[in-house]
Amino acid sequence: MDEFSFINTIRQDRYSQPSLVKGIGDDAAVFRTQEDVVTAVDTFVEGVHFSKKTMSPYQTGYRALAANLSDLAAMGARPVFYLVSIVIPKTWTLNELEEIFHGMKALARNHHMDLIGGDTVSGSELSISVTVIGYVDQDMARFRHTAKPDDLVFVTGTLGDARAGLHLLTEDRESAYKNIAFFKKRHQMPTPRLEFALKLADIDRVTLNDVSDGIANEANEIAEASNVCLTLYDKEIPTSKDFGQFSVTMQHEWKYFGGEDFELLGTVAEKNWNALVKAAKDSGVQLTKIGFVTNTNKEPAVYVIENDTKARLDKKGYTHLK
Ligand code: ADP
Ligand code: MG
Repeated sequence: MDEFSFINTIRQDRYSQPSLVKGIGDDAAVFRTQEDVVTAVDTFVEGVHFSKKTMSPYQTGYRALAANLSDLAAMGARPVFYLVSIVIPKTWTLNELEEIFHGMKALARNHHMDLIGGDTVSGSELSISVTVIGYVDQDMARFRHTAKPDDLVFVTGTLGDARAGLHLLTEDRESAYKNIAFFKKRHQMPTPRLEFALKLADIDRVTLNDVSDGIANEANEIAEASNVCLTLYDKEIPTSKDFGQFSVTMQHEWKYFGGEDFELLGTVAEKNWNALVKAAKDSGVQLTKIGFVTNTNKEPAVYVIENDTKARLDKKGYTHLK
């Protein structure tokens, strides 16, 4: 099958976004809007970011878009469009490639997003690069640099599950554990917290960062960007029901440095906490207060209080080429 026929199999029959002027089929796509435009791109390379051993093609596509949508959630933006650049090696069948796009489309449909373009080339490794475009009311994008002393620190969902899922997918002793389907799914098909983030629109200031590398990393990013200190209570870090079945060392490593849970970590003024609780309830997302923000003494930092002792938490989380 040639490139032209392939594009015809992935293009949507109709688009749902009214701001789209021209989708797939010309030299470039065109859209028109009054809102602020938020955009992000992420690239996934076979053997580096995913493997056929741990994920189906459908899940690979789903997850690639989910990771990008998590970035839009962390910006408080509503997703509208995506573009996909794909490098295709001979080892992938047409059916598998279509499955990748089915995975993306399933998630895109839930958010009324349109696939408006991309690029298709052949190469030696499968590589999927997804660009997302979102809208947000003017000057209402959420940043990392807005945390202030006396804010409280919160996180959605539970942490470490995706890393636990990867462990179960790569270790052959999985029969020793329970609830393996839950953990695997948290790795293979993560849920970006868009609905929750969008329900915060009435709050004047919320600092947000999505948990892609682990909260140790993300909390430090907020501290540095905002020039503040964050203090977290270890016993408040939320983990899932059966997380306790893993070794204490793994639990500690995974909840701070595991990453790819695609939860939202943030800070907000105490007076807005109730509004956050309501947003969480309305979007069916767990929300936990895990710490507080203070002024810096000398430099921005993250601390963890565990059994009455306070220790500094460094980034150490898996940070790609930074
Ligand atoms: P050009 O030669 O102008 O770059 P292409 O032949 O690469 O055009 O693509 C034709 C159309 O198909 C364009 O609208 C392009 O955005 C779209 N397209 C190509 N590859 C993909 C893809 N992987 N996903 C979505 N749209 C694609
Ligand atoms: Mg092209």
